[in-house]
Amino acid sequence: MDFKNTKIAFNYKTDSDLNKAYYLFKLLSFGYLSVLGRKVLKMLLKINFPLDILFKKTIYAQFCGGININECHSVIENLKRNNVYSILDYSVEGSVTETDFENSLKKCLDILLKCSEYSLSKFLVFKPSAVGKFSLYLKVSRGDLLSKQEVNQWSRIENRFDKICSLASKKNIMVLVDAEESWIQPAIDKLVLKMMFIYNKEKSVVFNTLQTYRKDRFDFLTSTHERIKSKNIKIGIKLVRGAYMEKERDRAIKNNYESPICENKKDTDQLFNKSMRYILQNIDDFSLFIGSHNEYSNMLAVDLIDKLKLKKNDQRIWFSQLYGMSDNISFILAKNGFNVAKYLPFGPVKEVIPYLIRRLDENSSVSMQTNRELQLISSEIKRRKV
Ligand SMILES: Cc1cc2nc3c(=O)[nH]c(=O)nc-3n(C[C@H](O)[C@H](O)[C@H](O)COP(=O)(O)OP(=O)(O)OC[C@H]3O[C@@H](n4cnc5c(N)ncnc54)[C@H](O)[C@@H]3O)c2cc1C
Repeated sequence: MDFKNTKIAFNYKTDSDLNKAYYLFKLLSFGYLSVLGRKVLKMLLKINFPLDILFKKTIYAQFCGGININECHSVIENLKRNNVYSILDYSVEGSVTETDFENSLKKCLDILLKCSEYSLSKFLVFKPSAVGKFSLYLKVSRGDLLSKQEVNQWSRIENRFDKICSLASKKNIMVLVDAEESWIQPAIDKLVLKMMFIYNKEKSVVFNTLQTYRKDRFDFLTSTHERIKSKNIKIGIKLVRGAYMEKERDRAIKNNYESPICENKKDTDQLFNKSMRYILQNIDDFSLFIGSHNEYSNMLAVDLIDKLKLKKNDQRIWFSQLYGMSDNISFILAKNGFNVAKYLPFGPVKEVIPYLIRRLDENSSVSMQTNRELQLISSEIKRRKV
């Protein structure tokens, strides 16, 4: 298996798609330009500049599926033809009021129903902060005493989680709960575990996210496993390295506590690979969703699946990358019979742009990957010309 086979990687892209992607990644590869670009973008958004037309055909087309589920259909079908599933990711951010949280819940339930009715996806993904107040997750995480109003708000959050997981379970769809900042994670860990106890009896319906840039997460994984393995719960884990490194470190310095993040990339990589190995070796108690663009880790998973004599298309093991990135990994894994699904952001253009900017802002590694993307796209363009 060769992640450099650009013919398979870009089979689903037309020549014109490829050329557009080339110029986009070329632009992103000029670091200073993209920093400047983001600043200009934020300013244009502030003054309500009509960005829709400009973006719809460029950055949006590369990374997003459409403004609504209907518009995503053709992208979903195109990926499916190459055995790659989609995971609809409604990328509108900024939920703060109880009405926003209820609207996010409705959106999740609507996506679930449509995914099931039209066989669009096997997964639903949501962010805890879309269905509940960030400050309340923080209070619960710290073990603070809650007011009567907060107790009610917390029980509404629990209800929203339960409604999503219950419908997903009925519709045979798996739920991925995203991980965000470490300081709200204890509350989320408890809540997701509670859902696993209800819905993960025969198989994993609910998945918690493990960010291995956190020093403590391998111990968290093994201790959770030890604690509940006799209870016949199938633990669902989405394994990622983590997207909030800079923010985590800044907060630790500002508030004078030890950073929860690994000292260097090598340590994060080791923890990622160690966690992946642990889960695969104990797969009868788990389901594993590997969210990574790292070629070494994906290839390691392939090797481990082979060595442990697991089936390539074992429904407990999934690989995932973001739409518009690392197609070489996604399509080559799928071509070789592994289960692959891509996160497909969607939503109104103007409302999704802040999400795209945040991804670039928070995640310096995305910009680091642009050079790899650029090389792959250029060699495919050259290959097609021969
Ligand atoms: C399908 C999918 C779902 C995701 N869901 C989530 C989610 O729910 N929550 C979330 O937080 N992120 C999520 N991410 C993002 C993910 O955590 C990574 O930020 C991103 O994928 C880059 O990591 P990588 O394994 O792809 O690649 P790589 O390029 O190999 O790794 C980059 C990552 O390594 C870590 N790193 C880099 N430099 C250092 C350093 N100096 N010290 C320590 N660590 C370092 C950081 O985590 C960085 O993001 C998701 C990614 C994918 C593909």
